[in-house]
Amino acid sequence: MHCPFCDTQDTKVIDSRLVSDGASVRRRRECNACKERFTTFETAELVMPRVIKSDGSREPFNEDKLRNGLLRALEKRPVSVESMEQAIQNVKSALRATGEREITSQVIGGLVMENLKAIDKVAYIRFASVYRAFDDIREFGEEIARLND
Ligand SMILES: [Zn+2]
Repeated sequence: MHCPFCDTQDTKVIDSRLVSDGASVRRRRECNACKERFTTFETAELVMPRVIKSDGSREPFNEDKLRNGLLRALEKRPVSVESMEQAIQNVKSALRATGEREITSQVIGGLVMENLKAIDKVAYIRFASVYRAFDDIREFGEEIARLND
């Protein structure tokens, strides 16, 4: 760790303690060269995988985009904001749990559909029709028929 004052690499930890319920570690460090003291915080980085789009390009995972997609599907539906936020959290945890650094947008779409199906069938169909861009009307009909299973 470089000293932020004189830029030497020669610094030492003089105190270390857990903060915010153990979610991070606060360290007091002292520079061996200039003797200045400074604090660092260490937290686990919960990185979301990058998204591989259908054209092969990559983009950072965008929670707002996910939320907008859900809001559109849930428009005028009797679903609480809490349920929607829970669905977003479910999708995010499932993505992190894969341990993958990159994930296709289809996988994300599939996770969203799974969650929507559990909270609102109409929203599920709306999302699926936009997301999956059903090839033909028969395929769409089959999907609706499966909802009654
Ligand atoms: Zn220094």
